[in-house]
Amino acid sequence: MPDEFIHEPRIAYFSMEIALHNDIPTYSGGLGVLAGDTMRSAADLELPMVAVTLVSREGYFRQRIDEEGQQFEDPDPWEPAQWARALQAKIALDIEDRTVWVGGWLYILEGHMNGRQPVILLDTDLGENHPDDRAITAQLYGGDQRYRLKQEMVLGIGGTRLLQALGFSIRQYHMNEGHSALLALELLRRYAWPQEDLRPGESPYDIPRVRELCCFTTHTPVEAGHDRFPYELVKQVAGEPVEFATLKQLAGNDTLNMTRLALNLSEYVNGVAQRHAEVSRSMFPGYQVHAVTNGVHPFTWTSETFRHLYDAEVPGWCHEAAMLIRAECCIADEELWAAHQENKQQLIARVRELTGTQLDPGQPIIGFARRMTAYKRPDLLFSDLERLRRIAARHPFQIVMAGKAHPRDEGGKRLIRQLYQHRRELEADIPMVFLPGYDLEMAQCLVAGVDLWLNTPLRPLEASGTSGMKATFNGVPNLSVLDGWWIEGCIEDITGWAVGDSSEADNDSDAASLYDKLEQKVLPLYYQDRAGWIAVMKGAIAKNASYFNSHRMMRRYATEAYIR
Ligand SMILES: *Cc1c(COP(=O)(O)O)cnc(C)c1O
Repeated sequence: MPDEFIHEPRIAYFSMEIALHNDIPTYSGGLGVLAGDTMRSAADLELPMVAVTLVSREGYFRQRIDEEGQQFEDPDPWEPAQWARALQAKIALDIEDRTVWVGGWLYILEGHMNGRQPVILLDTDLGENHPDDRAITAQLYGGDQRYRLKQEMVLGIGGTRLLQALGFSIRQYHMNEGHSALLALELLRRYAWPQEDLRPGESPYDIPRVRELCCFTTHTPVEAGHDRFPYELVKQVAGEPVEFATLKQLAGNDTLNMTRLALNLSEYVNGVAQRHAEVSRSMFPGYQVHAVTNGVHPFTWTSETFRHLYDAEVPGWCHEAAMLIRAECCIADEELWAAHQENKQQLIARVRELTGTQLDPGQPIIGFARRMTAYKRPDLLFSDLERLRRIAARHPFQIVMAGKAHPRDEGGKRLIRQLYQHRRELEADIPMVFLPGYDLEMAQCLVAGVDLWLNTPLRPLEASGTSGMKATFNGVPNLSVLDGWWIEGCIEDITGWAVGDSSEADNDSDAASLYDKLEQKVLPLYYQDRAGWIAVMKGAIAKNASYFNSHRMMRRYATEAYIR
C-alpha cells in the first residue's frame, strides 16, 4: 500500500456498493451513488478516508427492455485490472467450514483538486479458493440469502482484516447501511479480553471500545431493505463469529438483524434526512438517531454548461457550494436559459439516439428516473389518463423516464410494463419515452436536460432521495411529494412545488394534487412567464444546490460522526 495512504490513521467507509465511474458497474442505485459522492467529496476535502467494497466483477446487471416493457437482465462484467492495481496482501476467513481467501484491488479515486482516496475492492476470485467461493464477490445483490450472507462476511469481516493486513490504522469505521455490520463482530473479536482475566458470567468483549470505533448510517424505512438472517443459516455459514449469547443480545433474539447489530455497536447513528431520522427513531425506539441530510457531489452533478456559468459568476462554488446562494443575483437570466437549452438539446439528441423519438425543444420535458419499485410510484402520474390528456391539450408537455427494477422485484418489473402500456395509450397526445439502462451518465444527462424533475414516492418511505438534488445543480426545479430531502428543500413557488402535504395521504389525493399543480401552477408558469420560471430555476440553485451537496454532508460527518 502506498505510504501516502497509510502514514496517518483513516476513517474506513464500508459500503456494499459504490459508484466510482460509469464503466465500473459496482453499484445498483442511490446507495452506491451516494457512496461514490461521499468519497469524491472526501477527496476534494482531503479527509483521511479509505473505502471498502466488493469488486462485483459481474456488476449488477445490464438492463434490456422489449417492446412490451419486459425487463431482461444481462451480465455486466468489468475488468478490475484495467482500472485498479492488484493488492499483494490477502487474508483468510472461514465460510461454511472452508477457508476462503480474500484479496483485492486498489482503485484510486481522484478529486478534481488533487485529492486522492484509496478504494479497496474485495475479491475472492483467487486460484486457491473453491470454485463456489470464487464467485462470492461476483454479483452485486445477486443470489439468495446464503450468498448475501457470504458477501456480507467478506465485506465486513474480510474487509476489516484486509485493512489491517495492508497496514492501515483505522480511527473510525463507518457502516454505510447495515450490509457491513459484521465488521463490528470482527472488532469485538479483536478487542476481547483473555479468558483467564474474566470473572464468571462476564462478557469477554470490550463492547464500549467497539462502539467508540463505529458509526452507522441507516438508509431506508422499507422493511425489506434491512437484512435479517436466520441463526441456523448464520451457524452454517459463519460458524460462531462471536459467542451466540452475545450475538443474540446485540443482533436480535430470533434472527440476526444487521440493522440492530449496527445500532447496538455504533456510538453515532444517523438517518439521511430530518424526516428519515424521525421515522428511524420510531422504528428503533431507544436509540439516538441523528440526522445528516444527504447531498450530491457538486462537480460530478453539474453539467459542463453550468460549470462554466458558475466558474465565471460564482468562483469557488465547486469547493464551497454554499457560494451558490449568490447565483440568484449574479447569473443573468439569458445566460442561464441558454445553458439550460444546451443541456436540453443534448438530452433530446440522446433520446433520439436511444429510442428514435424526436422530442420538441419548445415543450417542457418532465423527467422521472429512479429505481423502479412499488413505493416510488412511477405510475402515479398516469393514475387518470383522461385528466393527463386534458392538461396536455392546454399546456403540452413531454415525459422522459428511466430506471431499473431489481431482478427479483416482480412488482417493479410490472411497473415498467405498465409504463410501456401507458406510453402506447398516450401516443397520440403526449410524447413519452422510457430509456433503458439507467446509469451515472444517463442520470447526468437527464437531471440537466429536463425542465422539471418529478418524484412521487409513498410517504414516508423515501429516506432522502438524491436525484432531485442533482437537478438543482443544473437549475432544474423539483415537483415532488413532501418526503425525504424535499421536506427540507421545498419552498413553494421559490425552489419548486410540493405534491400533497406532509401528512398521511393516499394515491388518489396525491394524484389529484399532482395534476392540480401541473395544470394550475407549473405548466402555466413555464408557458406564460419566462422570467418567473427562470426565477424558480435560480431559486433551486441558490437555495437547494447550495445546501444539498456532499461537501456539506461530509463536513458534518467529519465534525459530528468521525470526531466525537
Ligand atoms: C442519483 C441516482 C439514483 C438515486 O436517485 P433517487 O432519486 O435517490 O432515487 C439512482 N440511480 C442512479 C444511476 C443515480 O444517478
